[in-house]
Amino acid sequence: MNTKVPFNDLKSLHLNLKDQLDEAIKDVIDKSLFIRGKYVNEFEEMFAKVIGSNNCVSVANGTDALYISMKVLGLKSGDEVIVPAHSWISTSETVTQANGQVVFCDTDKSTFTIDPEQIEDKITPKTVGIIPVHLYGQPAEMDMIIQIAKKHNLWIIEDCAQAHLAKYKGKTVGTLGDIGTFSFYPGKNLGAMGDAGAIVTKNSEIARKAEMYARHGGVKKGIHEIEGVNSRMDGIQAAILTIKLKHLEKWTKDRQKNAKLYDEHLQNINGLELPKVASGREHVWHLYVIKNSKRDELKKYLNDNGIQTVINYPTALPFLPAYKRLNYKFEDFPNAYSNQSKILSLPLYPNMEFDKINYVADKIKKFE
Ligand SMILES: *Cc1c(COP(=O)(O)O)cnc(C)c1O
Repeated sequence: MNTKVPFNDLKSLHLNLKDQLDEAIKDVIDKSLFIRGKYVNEFEEMFAKVIGSNNCVSVANGTDALYISMKVLGLKSGDEVIVPAHSWISTSETVTQANGQVVFCDTDKSTFTIDPEQIEDKITPKTVGIIPVHLYGQPAEMDMIIQIAKKHNLWIIEDCAQAHLAKYKGKTVGTLGDIGTFSFYPGKNLGAMGDAGAIVTKNSEIARKAEMYARHGGVKKGIHEIEGVNSRMDGIQAAILTIKLKHLEKWTKDRQKNAKLYDEHLQNINGLELPKVASGREHVWHLYVIKNSKRDELKKYLNDNGIQTVINYPTALPFLPAYKRLNYKFEDFPNAYSNQSKILSLPLYPNMEFDKINYVADKIKKFE
């Protein structure tokens, strides 16, 4: 079947920027600015400003951003960290990687973000932090999470990998917790042309430690205060991201416009549940995720009609083979479990043509 509607279209997104991108990449090569240098500094400064934070430490990818954040916050062996049962595996695997214990918490059935009502039940004397994920681009219920964290003296790392510029009660995500972590994987709302990530924080001491940890434990050449890791954003990615960052606000609005069109076209269809946005939250639609109990048939039908869809993610984290050791049962996370067989991500990207949205909606209406 020919693809009529791709899941994403980065090629056309980059077409208008081609001359600028070519020129920036050429400049990196001409000046050998491969590691550090002015493009990386410029991007860090710009990104912190756009998010409304004071510090941005660029790293190699969004997974490293999570891992480094936990090392910097002093995670020790055996410490417990609460993460949502429904996310990309980076959110939980980095807890283990940093020597902590992953404690999953079920998600809210309709918003897919961590259910704050269930967090306190998961807290033990070993709990040190919570990682809410602003999944699909919708902020988690931060007021309650912050309240719980304060009461129990826990840190918060916001996993903002899918939520660049999303807002919770007017505040940009990444500025609400102790740390915000971002991914610039090519398909994310702000994407590089390879791997890249960032840590943002209002706390300069945390930023200093994160920078040190990501640069082999030292920010001055030859002086290693601690043992760290090597996690850097390279100059070419920084140059590309600086150019693309200038368009992020417009692209976000275009995503919101397109999500609204889907909302309008897909009203009142039997068996179809549209994504819900909770009050006070500005969704940035990294993914437009519908629910249907005949999901697999719908996916196949759309594919037969040339429409690419994706399941993000087919198995909730606690039920993955990677967590078999924890012996979870489906009843332990009923919402994440029930959602995993119903969710389907429709194509949605900023440069998506209206006739493509109409075509997808039209086909879904005709699905029986
Ligand atoms: C993409 C993603 C990450 C990891 O980002 P990488 O840059 O691919 O390492 C972490 N958390 C979530 C929720 C993500 O979607």
